Amino acid sequence: MNADHLRIDAARLLVRLDRLAEIGAIEGGGCCRLALSDEDKAGRDLVVGWMRDLGLAVSIDRIGNVFGLRAGTQALPPVMTGSHIDTVRTGGRYDGNLGVIAGLEAVETLNAAGVRTPRPLVVAFFTDEEGARFAPDMLGSLVYAGGLPLEEALAAVAIDGKVLRAELQRIGYAGDAALGIHRPSAYVELHIEQGPVLDAEGTTIGAVEDLQGISWQEIAITGQSNHAGTTPMRLRHDAGYCAAATACFLRGLAREMGGAQVCTVGRIDLGPNLINVIAARATLTADLRNTDEALLRQAEARLDAFLETLARDEGVAIRTKRLARFEPVTFDPAVIRCIEGVSSRLGYGHRRMTSGAGHDAQMLARVCPAAMIFVPSVKGISHNAAEFTAPADLEAGANVLLHTLLALAAKEAF
Ligand SMILES: [Zn+2]
Repeated sequence: MNADHLRIDAARLLVRLDRLAEIGAIEGGGCCRLALSDEDKAGRDLVVGWMRDLGLAVSIDRIGNVFGLRAGTQALPPVMTGSHIDTVRTGGRYDGNLGVIAGLEAVETLNAAGVRTPRPLVVAFFTDEEGARFAPDMLGSLVYAGGLPLEEALAAVAIDGKVLRAELQRIGYAGDAALGIHRPSAYVELHIEQGPVLDAEGTTIGAVEDLQGISWQEIAITGQSNHAGTTPMRLRHDAGYCAAATACFLRGLAREMGGAQVCTVGRIDLGPNLINVIAARATLTADLRNTDEALLRQAEARLDAFLETLARDEGVAIRTKRLARFEPVTFDPAVIRCIEGVSSRLGYGHRRMTSGAGHDAQMLARVCPAAMIFVPSVKGISHNAAEFTAPADLEAGANVLLHTLLALAAKEAF
């Protein structure tokens, strides 16, 4: 059957987004559904109910990832789509949720039209993508892809002191499906951009071709606190100054390296943090990102060298602790071309782009050809209740997802 004419039902898509957003709703239209919290459980229950209503065979794996399988006409590995439904504390209603709900909407569209695909389809949502409660982020998809041992992930301790294994059991999502279940032939994820590029340009669809590598460290500086009036400048061991100098260095480094390099100091804590006392302690974070692994390593090495010189010159002790490190990801050219072809055929403006944020798709890219579809985020605002994507763009993204899934699920070989 020719399915080229099929289109998703935008009203149905919006109703599901609204209903999921009612769970853990916060002021301003956003959501707070931290991973494995009561709110996350309620959100999971709602989505699993929808999966069953659509006739999907639901499996839950040992890290709590949930998969809804729609059978194909042939015994081939499935095409998978999905994302996450956990949010940060000040989350929006689209981040992650859109990808899962659009996957369900694609299934409902196919069900209603009686279209069967050669390959099976799987709609998935992965545990703790945000990392806002349990580190690291993208934990569920990382475990699924074999990048983190299950036992280590189950032992993760939340910011509230609870252990992941116990929380998974408490909310009833400690499943028994094997890790890596439904190993896909391809994975495609629809997500809001969470950045300003598409919105600023007025482009509807982003075909995501790569994803920045991320290097997170915590830098702890120990100097000596002393009187701000009586201590001569040359005799100071000022941890506050060193923290500020590091922030300035990183800004200069990003500017000098140019290209895709970005550097951020997002947190600085000073102690004792008083107006008339030279700070004895500073703890700050460095967030370095680049799409090129060699350049990212170069930025890390430059920071190391700077800190070494700074410690010597200022007579302070500096320790660094690695918080997260993910290499850049290059998505699959064939899946990217498929997204572009579908977007053109449906009449949507599109461009290739880089993802500045981490996504489950980067973990799935370890086990199968993968790529992502982005739709605009108004003003690039995300992880914020004000996160917004226009209904027409949500609809466009879901239609591109539907037809990308159809194209991939018709493929005999990859
Ligand atoms: Zn997300």
